[in-house]
Parts: sequence; C-alpha cells; structure tokens
Amino acid sequence: MYNPNSKKAEEFICHEEILATLAYAEANKENKILISQLIEKAKERKGLTHREASVLLACQIPEKIQEIYDLAEQIKKDFYGNRIVMFAPLYLSNYCINGCVYCPYHLKNKHIVRKKLTQEEIVREVTALQDMGHKRLAIESGEDPVNNPIEYILECIQTIYSIHHKNGAIRRVNVNIAATTVENYRKLKDAGIGTYILFQETYHKESYEQLHPTGPKHNYAYHTEAMDRAMEGGIDDVGLGVLFGLERYRYEFTALLMHAEHLETVFGVGPHTISVPRLKRADDIDPDTFDNGIDDEAFAKICALIRISVPYTGMIISTRESKAVREKVIRLGVSQVSGASRTSVGGYAEEEPEDECSEQFDVSDKRTLDEVVRWLMELGYIPSFCTACYREGRTGDRFMSLCKAKQIQNCCQPNAIITLKEYLTDYASPETKKVGEQVIVNELKQISNEKVRQLCKEWLEKIENGKRDFRF
Ligand code: SF4
Ligand code: SF4
Repeated sequence: MYNPNSKKAEEFICHEEILATLAYAEANKENKILISQLIEKAKERKGLTHREASVLLACQIPEKIQEIYDLAEQIKKDFYGNRIVMFAPLYLSNYCINGCVYCPYHLKNKHIVRKKLTQEEIVREVTALQDMGHKRLAIESGEDPVNNPIEYILECIQTIYSIHHKNGAIRRVNVNIAATTVENYRKLKDAGIGTYILFQETYHKESYEQLHPTGPKHNYAYHTEAMDRAMEGGIDDVGLGVLFGLERYRYEFTALLMHAEHLETVFGVGPHTISVPRLKRADDIDPDTFDNGIDDEAFAKICALIRISVPYTGMIISTRESKAVREKVIRLGVSQVSGASRTSVGGYAEEEPEDECSEQFDVSDKRTLDEVVRWLMELGYIPSFCTACYREGRTGDRFMSLCKAKQIQNCCQPNAIITLKEYLTDYASPETKKVGEQVIVNELKQISNEKVRQLCKEWLEKIENGKRDFRF
C-alpha cells in the first residue's frame, strides 16, 4: 500500500505506514543504541528517513536531545553559514469560499472585513514594503474563483515586479495560493514566481476532512497531490508545511517527511522549503479549542529534527512566533524569517482601524524590519535580502545538487553581504547601519576565495556610489 513513487496521496502519505512508524518510534524511544546510531547517521549530512527521524522525535532522553540540538546547529552552519534570508508576506485578498475551521477567512465568518487589493493598492503596499527594504515577498490569497481567479493573481505578480520606488525592487515573488491545476501552475511559472508554497495543514485524512468541511479544499487528495501538479507545471521549487496544533505533531512530522521523500523519489528534487507555522489566535478562532497544541520545547525539537532529516531544505518561520522562540529555532535550523509582517489585506500602506480587522492571525513579533535586522546581527547572523538563485537559474535539481554538495554557501555568504549593504545604505537607521558595517567588515574576512572577495569589495564600493543589484 505504501508507495513513495505513487502519484496517489493515500499511497505516498500512507496512513498505515505512519501508524507503523509511530509504533516503531514508540517502541524504540528509549533504545539508546539505535538512537546513537541514528544520530551518527545524521552526522553524515545526508538526511534521515521518516522512520529514523520519528524515533528521534519520540526520544525523551535529555542528553540525546541535546546531541540532536548540537548537531542541528552544526548542520545549519555547514549548509547555510550564518545568513538568514528575510521576506515579508503580502495578503492580496481574504475572500475565500472554503470552510477551514482554524482560519478567520473561512466563508462563514461574517464579521471579518473582506478586502481585495486593486492594482493601485498593490502599488501602495509594495512601495511601503520597498521603503522598509524588503526584496522578497510571499503573496497570499484566499481561494475564490470569482474574486481571486488566476488572472488576478498573475496581474498582481506582474504589478509587483514592475514597481521600482527609489532604489527599491521586489526581486522574488513566492506564491501561497490554493491548490490548482497543472495549467495554472504553468502560468505561475511563466509569470516568474520563485517558490510555490502550499501548507498541507494536516496530513491526517480524517481530521483534514473535518477541518475542511466545505469548499474545494475539502478534497484531501487534490490538496495533497498539488505539489506533484506544480512540478508537472514546471515549478521546481515548492514549499511544504503543516499547521502544527491541528493534529498530533508526531503524526504530522512523519507525514511531512514522507511527502519530502515522495517528491525526491518522483521528481529527484525534495522540497525547497518547509514552513513550521503553529496555530494562533485570530478573529473567530480560539487555539484552545484545538487540543493538539505543542509547547515551545516540542516545537524546537521538530525544527531541529527537520534540519537534520532534510539538511538541504530551507526552513521558514514567521512572525506568528515570538522573538524568544524565533531566536531559539533560528539557531537550530531556520534559514528564512519574515520581518515587520502585516497579516491583513492592505496593512502595510495604512494601519487598519480596529473595527475593520482583516488579519489572518495575530502577529507575536511586532518589531520593525530595522529592529529585526539589528537583532539578527547582534546574535551573530547576517540578514540577507538575497534573491539570486532563481534569477540565475539555480532552481530545482541544480539548486539541490549545489546545496547537497555544500557549495551554495559560496554564493549565499557574499550575496548576503552585498544585499545587506544595499539595505544599510538605503533603509537602515544610523544605529543599525553602524552595527551592519562592522558585520560586513568581519564577513568579508571570512570569504576564502580571493577572487570572490575582491569582486565583493568592488561591488560594495559601487553600491556606495549608487549602483544596485549585484549577485553571485
Ligand atoms: S486557510 Fe486558506 S483556504 Fe482556508 S479559509 Fe483560510 S484563506 Fe481560505
Ligand atoms: S544564494 Fe541562493 S540559496 Fe543563498 S540566499 Fe541567495 S537565493 Fe538563497
């Protein structure tokens, strides 16, 4: 029944295989010999299978958990160095015909204000985002074929790429919209998107159907097979994620890794990113009504285990999480963070009045981008506004092979320096600029390739003289 090669959701995310894995993990959670062997295997940096990783997730032995954390931290450094890629979500429309019980945009919520950005409003939103310093967006939209058809999404993407305010530009638009057809994925690919992101929400079919009682999203197979269609449509960078808190986290974790294995088996390319959202309070939504909430410790363990199980996959954390949690999981493996996010439609250009709430969820980390950038630097990271890979055609298996060979770092680090310089020159506060210039001096010394270092220095000078958009 279980078949990672199958195109059928219920065969590559096989319920029986997940249950067998969880039983195996439970039976071995105190098996120190096996756990040590698995940690040793993970040290080879080739990842772990869903069964192996699930044993480590079940393990409660403090010294073994510490070993996992240390390894995750080390693997993160090896693959990603100390760069953290910055992005922001942009909500286009909260019209939605689905009935997802955990999301305030569900069709039956009559007290949330429904909004859809016009192209003029998008110009205002994107200008505001550019004025903060953002270069990479993830666009989000509810599912509504009348209000948000694919033509609307494509028009929005075109508008976003066309806006150049002062030195600003959005250089990569990632897309998080409902599961769609191969034909529509092809259109998104042709529109020049970066990653196509779709959260599974939960892999547990029965829960999935209860949590999505109405609307097209009710169809578990159509939703779960979306990434296969996206890849058939030519999108080779796809982003997975589950909404932790809906189902038992061990079940979700196992299934998430099975999904990654499926993509790798069928397409030769695993997921480009994995997001780790947790259920949060929002209009009409009380997280306490869901009994699968996970505490910060389990959450950190999940992040560390994703890092060691799929070392080549970027990991994303949003402002749903607090500063303290973000700090912890960035160390354990997260490679992309959002900053200064607004989860309402039209929230960047204008603050929403209290009685016009259109937010998808409450933001925990409410700091400005400048504050987030400075905070990351003070923690020893380089905030990066890099968008180079997909613009240089480094996507799909080309990207993965560079990543697996740990070569991508040779691009990430100088690109982080260059894009940070742009940020400091155009948008940073004097205090952040001061910290950042010192970071650049230190980071330049770390570039081992003399030629790259020289070119980097030249480009830094050119940026000071007004030129923009250099990349390796
Ligand atoms: S999660 Fe997505 S599909 Fe579901 S109600 Fe919210 S916006 Fe609509
Ligand atoms: S070089 Fe590629 S992988 Fe590295 S930060 Fe830039 S876009 Fe991401």
